[in-house]
Amino acid sequence: MSGREAFVTLATTNSYCMGATVVARSLRRHGTTRSIVVMVTPNVSEQSRLALQSVFDEVITVDVMDSGDRLNLSLLGRPELGITFTKIHCWTLTQYSKCVFLDADTLVLCNVDELFHRDELSAAPDPGWPDCFNSGVFVFRPSLHTHHRLLEHARQHGSFDGGDQGLLNSFFSGWPVEDISKHLPFIYNLSASSLYSYLPAFQQFGHDAKIVHFLGSEKPWSSSSRREGGHSHMEQFVSLWWREYRSNTEASAA
Ligand code: UDP
Ligand code: MN
Repeated sequence: MSGREAFVTLATTNSYCMGATVVARSLRRHGTTRSIVVMVTPNVSEQSRLALQSVFDEVITVDVMDSGDRLNLSLLGRPELGITFTKIHCWTLTQYSKCVFLDADTLVLCNVDELFHRDELSAAPDPGWPDCFNSGVFVFRPSLHTHHRLLEHARQHGSFDGGDQGLLNSFFSGWPVEDISKHLPFIYNLSASSLYSYLPAFQQFGHDAKIVHFLGSEKPWSSSSRREGGHSHMEQFVSLWWREYRSNTEASAA
């Protein structure tokens, strides 16, 4: 089975399933040759699961915590890390030799299959602290050994931000200084916040964006994002997101 490659995303709620649908649909629109996989938790509704099945190659149900595992059991005292561990589960997808993880709140704007030329752990800088990578888009190699080491690291050190990004950055701590080829260009993980912090750069380079990341509490599917008055550049991406979402809904209803 080695040699297979996949894009992987995660949805633990029905609303994140909307996002996941757009991730898959936008990857297909731009002709990816790789598999597209979503991890879901058991609470996700049958309806959402069926919708995902129509657009993903594989829908994998993952338990938030595997109660049979001693290491996981010792982590149960940290409920805030639940989503984090669900995301870390992507390292167990060993039917694939290499994967690209995409947050469910990303939108792919062109073919990005060249990401598979990169190695673990490749990611783009976080706009808030560029010596950390943002964990919304990253290249990784599934490995049960790495998965176990990540859980062990979480058990010993927790996560400095309470989420997967803190854990992954302290685990892959060499990222900021060791190997520039593991630094993805920012256009692979362009977040809305960069519009506010460096608008001229966005105006100069924004048209090269390859993946948009709707980072933060405001998601395209949350009702307030649909109101007017936001930043016009971001509004374009939000309406593109809705177009992709509706195209999928129509396709799966047909
Ligand atoms: N996620 C999820 N359910 C949640 C929260 C997060 O499935 O309740 C997944 C989803 O794939 C999401 C990712 O975890 O994209 C990271 O969370 P989010 O994108 O909300 O964080 P941000 O990028 O805004 O920091
Ligand atoms: Mn995100």
